[in-house]
Amino acid sequence: MPHILIVEDEAAIADTLIFALQGEGFSTTWLSLGQAALDYQRSTPADLLILDIGLPDISGFETCKQLRRFSEVPVMFLSARDGEIDRVVGLEIGADDYVVKPFSPREVAARVKAILKRMAPRAPVEAPAALFQVDIDKFQISYRGQPLSLTRHEFRLLHCLLEQPERVFSREQLLDALGVAADAGYERSIDSHIKSLRAKLRLVAATAEPIQTHRGLGYSYSPGHS
Ligand code: CA
Repeated sequence: MPHILIVEDEAAIADTLIFALQGEGFSTTWLSLGQAALDYQRSTPADLLILDIGLPDISGFETCKQLRRFSEVPVMFLSARDGEIDRVVGLEIGADDYVVKPFSPREVAARVKAILKRMAPRAPVEAPAALFQVDIDKFQISYRGQPLSLTRHEFRLLHCLLEQPERVFSREQLLDALGVAADAGYERSIDSHIKSLRAKLRLVAATAEPIQTHRGLGYSYSPGHS
């Protein structure tokens, strides 16, 4: 039974979430402070956090930032009003989704389900020619025997590309691999993730171009260029 940690200082909102989530078979813990959530997640990791942005101690954004130093747990932000959360900023911080209040608790439960489904561990990649080695549990990819220091978005992008060598993925498909709904504003950020990913790969092999650009189409992993 997946365990959901709800971090929300308004009891009425927390109650409706607990009700909807438990109705879908999730177990829940409710906390009202960001710091308490960080302490909790360190000792008793939940499978997903629902994180209010306006918390009494540290903001949901700050909580998420600190969380990301030690955990890759999926995070869904709760926002008090449209515009409070800048979608791109929220996603860069490492959130997986967000909803704006007032929301339908059933919709939140459905989205929680969808996120957990996307996050379900997939079979490890058979690294073609052993150039890349992927350790799903540790969110670690090695290239030519050297561990790469990747953000979680870079990890997911590279993992997605490695899984199907030579397949051209559109930016939309790559967003999907990040667990992010397609959004015109965010598609451009795929390019910047790819750019930083390439820079990290070049530190290992300066002239190789394992990630190929397909103009107007997207990106692929090409073992032949690795
Ligand atoms: Ca609040």
